Amino acid sequence: METPKELNQEGILFQVSVIDALLQGLYDGVYPVGKMMEKGDFGIGTFHALDGEMIILNDTLFQVVSSGEVLRPSGDILTPFAVITNFRSDKQLSLVELSFDSLKGGFSHYFPTPNMFYAVKLQGEFRFVRTRSVPLQTKPYPDLAEVAAGQPEFDFENVTGDIVGFYSPNFVKGLNVSGLHLHFLTTDRTGGGHILNFEMKSGTMEIGLLSQYQLILPERSDFFRGDFTNDRSAELEKIEK
Ligand SMILES: [Zn+2]
Repeated sequence: METPKELNQEGILFQVSVIDALLQGLYDGVYPVGKMMEKGDFGIGTFHALDGEMIILNDTLFQVVSSGEVLRPSGDILTPFAVITNFRSDKQLSLVELSFDSLKGGFSHYFPTPNMFYAVKLQGEFRFVRTRSVPLQTKPYPDLAEVAAGQPEFDFENVTGDIVGFYSPNFVKGLNVSGLHLHFLTTDRTGGGHILNFEMKSGTMEIGLLSQYQLILPERSDFFRGDFTNDRSAELEKIEK
């Protein structure tokens, strides 16, 4: 990954809707997840009416609902916001004692530049993982900050599992989550969610550079009427933590 020639030029990030739509409560599903999975085998997102956290790993769809249960929905299920790619590893590392903070703090040690998208896949043994899942909402939808205030959190200790996620550069503010956005799934596929914190004892990390970005905007009246005049980055940062 040292020279541009070695970069995965075919890496495409395919995205449904924009994060600022979700932040203002546009939770209606707009795109079938099965159709999205024609574009890739590795992804994260949420579901219609904010019904849990999405993980797509090895072309298999998982839904971590707010009870903590992991479901296997059909591809007909709709998403209001999700990202997917065909996972291709450009760099593989064996790691010991990696925390979420040390991954963020040591970013330049693991990633060649902050100005690209990356698919980020970790597999290993975790001392702990703290996740959350968002609960199913009914109309009128509250905004995401309100939902996040009451979200259930889950603690996993001494567990093996997979992290599926993405890094997005700073300049995507409003479109996607800037920085690392990671979801977790236990190896036995009984638990997971959106990662708030983790400590990995040992494992591997694979990253795939994505230099192309394909965005699908919802051709819907609620999206047409949406208010995108506010900078919602502070709101988003609060929710992510
Ligand atoms: Zn998430």
